[in-house]
Amino acid sequence: METLDIDTVVIGAGVVGLAIARELAQAGQEVIVLERQAHFGEGISSRNSEVIHAGLYYPADSLKAKLCLQGRELLYDYCANRPVGYRQTGKWIIAGETQQEQLDQVLRAASANGVTLESVGPDQLARALPDITASSGLYSPRTGIISSHELMVSLLGELEAAGGQLVCQAPVLAATSDGHGHHLEVGGEAPCRLRCRRVVNSAGLGAIGLARGWSGYDAALCPEPWYARGVYFSYSGRHPFNTLVYPVPEPGGLGVHLTLDLAGQARFGPDVEWVAEPDYTVDPARKQAFVDSVRRWWPALEPDRLQPAYAGVRPKLAGPDAGFTDFRIDDAGDHGIKGLVHLFGIESPGLTASLAIARYVRERLS
Ligand SMILES: Cc1cc2nc3c(=O)[nH]c(=O)nc-3n(C[C@H](O)[C@H](O)[C@H](O)COP(=O)(O)OP(=O)(O)OC[C@H]3O[C@@H](n4cnc5c(N)ncnc54)[C@H](O)[C@@H]3O)c2cc1C
Repeated sequence: METLDIDTVVIGAGVVGLAIARELAQAGQEVIVLERQAHFGEGISSRNSEVIHAGLYYPADSLKAKLCLQGRELLYDYCANRPVGYRQTGKWIIAGETQQEQLDQVLRAASANGVTLESVGPDQLARALPDITASSGLYSPRTGIISSHELMVSLLGELEAAGGQLVCQAPVLAATSDGHGHHLEVGGEAPCRLRCRRVVNSAGLGAIGLARGWSGYDAALCPEPWYARGVYFSYSGRHPFNTLVYPVPEPGGLGVHLTLDLAGQARFGPDVEWVAEPDYTVDPARKQAFVDSVRRWWPALEPDRLQPAYAGVRPKLAGPDAGFTDFRIDDAGDHGIKGLVHLFGIESPGLTASLAIARYVRERLS
């Protein structure tokens, strides 16, 4: 089988892999992105809420906080100068009478991250959100929404303009790192072997599995993979919202919230369901739990207008009771192998953080 030499390989063409590949190609590296599916962006990157997060929830010294805040500003600048749909919608986080402590926690975490929130009581909230039942709320003006597909199209275009290339139907089957660099066995339509100086494992839900079988890399350094599915239900027809509305966070996720797409259609989700393997089934029977959950804060919800939409799976690094876990972006300082970066646990806010993650990886590799 033919062995091809290449400077840098990025494994996985989601929003994070494409952002990294563009960043490295624009820095002058010869870059190929290998994607196992027939098209880019068919993994987590097309199965999320498409929210540009302001950076409210994460511990101040975490990678999630740092990369979300940087990424948010990079993303707003990026979209303002390219044909990528986005809107700074703002977002409300609302609490019932017994949830004031959880709301205060969000306020404390946000202010530790330098994110300004407006805190409002029942009267002001009733004026801002007359259809909502809640006793207090926080308003985040810097939250927005984005077309993740248009973002990926734009990143790919700029990758190619910088001389990089995306190869689809090219699953990485096995990898070895040794003193001579990295060797990848690629399957699919045109099987080959690649030898490269740098390799970035940005395979999303597949990243841990790939790293575990990586010859020359100590598999004991790999975290355990955990998967938390989140399903969405869309809401057909008119609704009274022009901003995002979130209840206070719940374990494993941000609570079943209301987001809007760029056409203004509302959807609710994602919920949290721990699953043994990634699986995108949307069980219509979950609808009743959505109705019950949303009606606590929007009593006028009409159940007949709620339709099963899609599911995403969060690549978690710990199970249900573990509390906060950070992104893991492991480089030679962590595993001792020059030119190798593994990205583990790139769940939310990975879309928001994608451009900042790309810079971070470039700095790690240099
Ligand atoms: C329910 C849900 C809601 C979310 N909401 C938001 C949000 O509102 N805002 C936000 O900022 N973030 C959000 N996120 C997080 C965000 O979507 C992800 O962090 C981001 O999309 C991760 O991108 P990625 O490129 O790492 O992964 P992916 O998009 O999954 O890309 C990885 C790619 O690697 C490929 N691959 C896997 N194995 C191999 C292999 N061996 N060889 C070649 N290719 C391989 C896959 O096919 C895939 O295309 C959400 C996530 C979920 C699950």
